[in-house]
Amino acid sequence: MTRSSAIPQPTGSASQTLTFDGPAVAAALDAALAAEPDLTARLRLIADYIPGRVAFSTSLGIEDQAVFAAIATADLPFDVFTLDTGRHFPQTLETLEATESRYGRRIRITFPDAQEVETLVARDGIMGFRHAIENRKACCDIRKVRPLNKALAGASGWITGLRRDQSAGRAHVPFAAWDGAQGLIKLNPIADWSLETLERFVEDYSVPVNPLHAQGFPSIGCQPCTRAIRPGEDIRAGRWWWENEDGKECGLHNRPKKDAAA
Ligand code: SF4
Repeated sequence: MTRSSAIPQPTGSASQTLTFDGPAVAAALDAALAAEPDLTARLRLIADYIPGRVAFSTSLGIEDQAVFAAIATADLPFDVFTLDTGRHFPQTLETLEATESRYGRRIRITFPDAQEVETLVARDGIMGFRHAIENRKACCDIRKVRPLNKALAGASGWITGLRRDQSAGRAHVPFAAWDGAQGLIKLNPIADWSLETLERFVEDYSVPVNPLHAQGFPSIGCQPCTRAIRPGEDIRAGRWWWENEDGKECGLHNRPKKDAAA
């Protein structure tokens, strides 16, 4: 079922640069997603509502594995990619391989600019991100944010696996919102899922997951910047644990808000 007749229409053909009322489409889609409990149906709504390329950036963590399972099973035409920072756990790369085999679908891999990484490491050292928060942010910028921006360039939508109960900073994540900084609609189809809902989905559909999750790693990033958490700790406490809580995002999901309402 198409919902396009109920929402603002894009102009231009698929071969042209699409122009559409992003904030209005995002608002309509946010309401539609909130009213639809099924993940696959939510993803179909996204495909119906948004013209042009819709990208899904997977970190290969359990949330993104669930979203990818639904995308691949329904054979939805999203541009699925992951960022290889060069510092992943071996288990993360094994999860990537297992996922492609399980679903018979290739996941596009993006890499940071080699010269930028060389210049950064020459300046700060191979573990320079532990010596100053500025160094850490520079490393995340070069290894994650810039490749992400490159991968998202020209996309109309960006699907993520963010959930509201992952951290206090994600407590108000919407299902869909206009991201003025990127010029696209950011989509969080499992924003309202609890950890229990997520784990049940993964078990019910035999979704491959990173074995580190069972070893105390609820949130898995780069190997030198991720540790297991202790019982009772926040699920993101194992990320950049040497820093204060305030700045503990890598820049992928905390973009400038100045254009958010544009
Ligand atoms: S998580 Fe650590 S190693 Fe990975 S990009 Fe950020 S600072 Fe660099």
